Amino acid sequence: MHIILFGPPGVGKGTQAKILSERFHIPHISTGDMLREEIRLETDLGKKAKVLMDAGNLVPDDIMIGMIRGVLTSQRCVNGIILDGFPRTVEQATALEGMMKELHITVKRVLSLEVTEEHIMERLLKRSETEHRADDTAETILKRIAIYKKSTAPVKDYFISRGMLSAINGEGPVAEVSQRMLDALQ
Ligand code: ADP
Repeated sequence: MHIILFGPPGVGKGTQAKILSERFHIPHISTGDMLREEIRLETDLGKKAKVLMDAGNLVPDDIMIGMIRGVLTSQRCVNGIILDGFPRTVEQATALEGMMKELHITVKRVLSLEVTEEHIMERLLKRSETEHRADDTAETILKRIAIYKKSTAPVKDYFISRGMLSAINGEGPVAEVSQRMLDALQ
C-alpha cells in the first residue's frame, strides 16, 4: 500500500507517518530524514543539501526525484511506503506520477494534514526547543512556510484534480488524528 502524506512543515506528518508505518508494516520514507542522513555522513549531496536546508530552501527537484526513484525500486519498499515530504513541487508530483505508472504502482491515497497557520508556527517553535534542528529558527520557519505556500501548496490542487486527496483535520490529540487518517483509508 502506497500512501502519500502531504501538508505544511510542522503539521505532524512525521508523527502520523510512524503510526501508519507500524500499523501497516510498510516503511516510513521521510525525504527530510534521508537528507539529514546524507548530511550526517558528509556526502557530496549532504554538503549541498545542508546549505539549502539550513536556509529553509528546497533541495533541487532533480536530486529529490532521483532519490525517490531509488526508494521506489528498492526491495524493502515493494509492499508499499508511507511517503512523507515528497512531492513538494508540482514538478516532483508529475515525476512521481510517471515513475508510479512505469513501476505499476497505484497510490492508495494522498492524506493532506491540515491545521491553522498559528498552530504550525507554535509547533515548529516547540520542536526547535526539543530537537534543535538547524532549520527550526523563527526566521527559517517563516521562510519555509512562505516556500510551502508558493511551491508546495499547488501540489494539493494537483492531487485534488486527480481525485486522490483526502483532507484530514490535523488538530487535536495524536490518536484522534490517526483515526481520521485510518477512516480516510477505508
Ligand atoms: P518539514 O516537514 O518540517 O519542513 P522535512 O524534514 O520534511 O521538514 O524537510 C526538511 C527540509 O528538507 C526542507 O525544508 C527541504 O529543504 C528539504 N526537503 C525535504 N524533502 C524535500 C523535497 N521533496 N524537495 C525539496 N526539498 C526537500
